[in-house]
Amino acid sequence: MKRERRGDSTECVHAGEDRHGSNAPITTEIAQASVFVLKNTEELRRYSEGKSDAYMYSRYGNPTVRAAEEKIAALEAAEDCVVTSSGMSAEMCALLAVCEAGDEVVSMMDIYGGTIKLFENVLPRCGIKTRLVPFGDLGRMEKYFSKKTRMLFLETPTNPTLRCADIESLAEIGRRNNACVVVDNTFATPVLQKPLKLGADVVVHSATKYLGGHSDLTAGALAGAKKWIDPMRAMMIQTGACLDPGAAYLLLRGLKTLEVRVERACVNAFEVASFLRRHDNVVRVMYPGLPESESHQVAARQMRDFGMMVSFEIRGGGKAAQRFIDALKLWYLAPSLGGVESTVSYPVLASHIGLPQKQLELLGVSAATVRLSVGIENSADLVADLEQALANA
Ligand code: PLP
Repeated sequence: MKRERRGDSTECVHAGEDRHGSNAPITTEIAQASVFVLKNTEELRRYSEGKSDAYMYSRYGNPTVRAAEEKIAALEAAEDCVVTSSGMSAEMCALLAVCEAGDEVVSMMDIYGGTIKLFENVLPRCGIKTRLVPFGDLGRMEKYFSKKTRMLFLETPTNPTLRCADIESLAEIGRRNNACVVVDNTFATPVLQKPLKLGADVVVHSATKYLGGHSDLTAGALAGAKKWIDPMRAMMIQTGACLDPGAAYLLLRGLKTLEVRVERACVNAFEVASFLRRHDNVVRVMYPGLPESESHQVAARQMRDFGMMVSFEIRGGGKAAQRFIDALKLWYLAPSLGGVESTVSYPVLASHIGLPQKQLELLGVSAATVRLSVGIENSADLVADLEQALANA
């Protein structure tokens, strides 16, 4: 039944977990079972004919997992959602559901390194070719499409330079070329950006990041119209990319505070970016919230706020970057993002390790680039720690 969309925090707390009128625990229990008991052979028959929505086997579906799917669907304003064991498995399920041998994918050079590896090392084994568009060429994206293109895969803001791709205009090009338009919404979250409303067909998440929000689970999600999600769910089931009910419980709990966490971290990120921009030891700050950012206008148009990630180039190159990171006392060196705790990552030794110099230049990354995932601590403490580490860099 379709109902009026409520505010994001209301959906975060309630979607997928309505208990009114029942004598039930207020929280969703972990259905810690691999298999479910069926009433009788009639139910088994109805299930096998696709006429029963009873649970049968946890790889196919599980009540705790389903609650997380309904919550994410509500937040992305999607008809349906399927959650998976990781962000990478979500991407793989989307790709295999849409593409087959001989098909092509168009994507961006600036996407997450793991996704590039999937495109370059795994998809060719399935006979699927990917064309990666440099950020500066996104305006001429049309020329990368062919009759064989089945998917346009976008990611915005990008990692680690936080460039923003214009979802509305690129989705338009994708649809015109009969491609399924997928947007990786991991960095923005549905609180800041709703790609489906901007013309995308499917949203993909590494729910390991902000959706979970506490650095204690690995999960992925795909959200969109049922016509896309049904075959992607079938792919999840057939490849065994299901989420464990225990992880689904943590995801549900994390999601309840998503909007509150995002709002707080955005305020902190703006303070951190403003501080870095004034500092003599900082050459350049990459944050779409700064008016001088190349992506400021696009971000202001398609995002509610400018995000929780801030990257910068430190004066003094790679040596200074490493001294700075090692001097931090509050920010953890951890190559992930999206947790309540503030973390720092060093792209040339993590997400971008081993990339040739030319490609790093094209991506705007150097040994002096430092990436910050801003958490929900008090901003004064975060800034004080950055200040002392910059002084020691
Ligand atoms: N997409 C983005 C933007 C990511 O940053 C990541 C992981 O860092 C992934 C996808 C992959 O997600 P996971 O690590 O949950 O498989």
